[in-house]
Amino acid sequence: MISKILIANRGEIALRVLRACKELGIATVAVHSTADSDAMHVRLADESVCIGPPPSRESYLNIHQIVAACEITGADAVHPGYGFLSENAKFADILEAHGITFIGPTAEHIRLMGDKITAKKTAEELGIPVVPGSDGEVRPENALKVAREIGFPVLIKATAGGGGRGMKVARTEADLEHAVATARSEAAAAFGNDAVYMEKFLGKPRHIEIQIVGDGEGNAIHLGERDCSLQRRHQKVWEEANSPALNVEQRMKIGQVCADAMKKMKYRGAGTIEFLYENGEFYFIEMNTRLQVEHPITEAITGIDLVHEQIRVASGAGLSAKQEDIVFSGHAIECRINAEDPRTFVPSPGTITHFHAPGGLGVRVDSGAYQGYRIPPYYDSLIGKLIVHGRTRVECMMRLRRVLDEFVIDGIKTTLPLFQNLINNQDIANGDYDIHWLEHHLASTSA
Ligand code: ADP
Repeated sequence: MISKILIANRGEIALRVLRACKELGIATVAVHSTADSDAMHVRLADESVCIGPPPSRESYLNIHQIVAACEITGADAVHPGYGFLSENAKFADILEAHGITFIGPTAEHIRLMGDKITAKKTAEELGIPVVPGSDGEVRPENALKVAREIGFPVLIKATAGGGGRGMKVARTEADLEHAVATARSEAAAAFGNDAVYMEKFLGKPRHIEIQIVGDGEGNAIHLGERDCSLQRRHQKVWEEANSPALNVEQRMKIGQVCADAMKKMKYRGAGTIEFLYENGEFYFIEMNTRLQVEHPITEAITGIDLVHEQIRVASGAGLSAKQEDIVFSGHAIECRINAEDPRTFVPSPGTITHFHAPGGLGVRVDSGAYQGYRIPPYYDSLIGKLIVHGRTRVECMMRLRRVLDEFVIDGIKTTLPLFQNLINNQDIANGDYDIHWLEHHLASTSA
């Protein structure tokens, strides 16, 4: 049994994990940098430990300090949240060596999915459909041969990729040499590894991802999909569950493929299998071996608390539900509220002078922000998530319109006006968008 969890994160996700621990009667330890002393998760935790100065690498990424904080407080488990150390296999190994439970998959599974080429090969072996592409790394001298086999346009991607870096499209043979060279140099600069591979470039796909949870013993379930096609610079902005593009048969079919793959792997914990979806076909792009930012929309339509599930399986108590118990009910949308200019997306840290969160049926606000809170400039600009649930997509959209009008955050710029714009757009109302829609929309309305 787990009796005390150290939450190795900050912001809304630290608060979200803390809430789950409290519901389960588990004691909590918050860790924080000197810039986060007055953060809400620190105030609400049973104990807190300052682990260093503001820069993440000296605090939230500082494994020694976090392990020391576990030792000092007697925490027997660590929840890593998302980002920071959540997909760091070395961190999982070190915790295990100290007899501390890592609330997540095995270090081996984190490593397997962390390298994109291995992840793709593994997915293929497990029966998950993948994007047509090269068989592993592509050297510049072989690029033309491989690209001809795949067929143009092709996408060059960094093996160690993340955040859309080291990714270049070659539309024709003439573009190829330059695309490969720039992808390699970007990858070398960003990841210290210039290896690249090649995929067919899909022109108008949607981003659809499947939520899975496994118990590490060969049982696994899927909790349906999320549609995260509304992106800006490969960053998700608005997510929905279910996807407006899938019907029940398609959902259950791809969901089952993923759950079966996780059973074969004996995957432990929550994970997300990400696909591009075009013309009725799914193409695996990557797997995230952690909780995702957008997990609350899945919780809204299934009623399952994913952090409870993570803690259950980490403590050996197994999954709380079987696949046949899962009922998908209604529709949910999440809007990511960032402290950013809604047009330029330039970060806007500062003090929140007024904060009023909306409420009512079907409304959830996950945020550590409050009136008088000073947003530090050192971290991600996500300050909250607005999640709205309705019995149908139409009801959900009507509720979202009402809720956006109620939400007040003054003193800084936020992305709230962007959502007020999107909620009144006909393509959004129709659910008719792909991964490029938002960037085109922003470009065409910025004149
Ligand atoms: P990263 O880890 O850098 O985020 P991903 O493989 O997850 O890289 O891809 C990020 C985004 O890039 C996807 O959500 C999609 O928008 C785009 N993308 C990735 N692969 C392809 C592809 N084969 N064709 C078209 N777009 C792609």
